[in-house]
Amino acid sequence: MTVEDPVCRNMIALEDAAASEEYAGWTYFFCCSRCHRVFKSNPRHYGDPGLPPRGSPVIATPDPSSQKT
Ligand SMILES: [Zn+2]
Repeated sequence: MTVEDPVCRNMIALEDAAASEEYAGWTYFFCCSRCHRVFKSNPRHYGDPGLPPRGSPVIATPDPSSQKT
């Protein structure tokens, strides 16, 4: 299974992810610690609270409090 690194836009295999970060109820994965730091410095730029991280519909669990019916 692959997920998209939201910082560098590389597709990475989950087992190759160097770091992960939870933001707005989603879990984002990163190819390297540098991308992880960049994301943490400006998560709103890279993470969209309204959308799951691309490529990770299964492992990403939306925050129940933010779900609308
Ligand atoms: Zn990266």
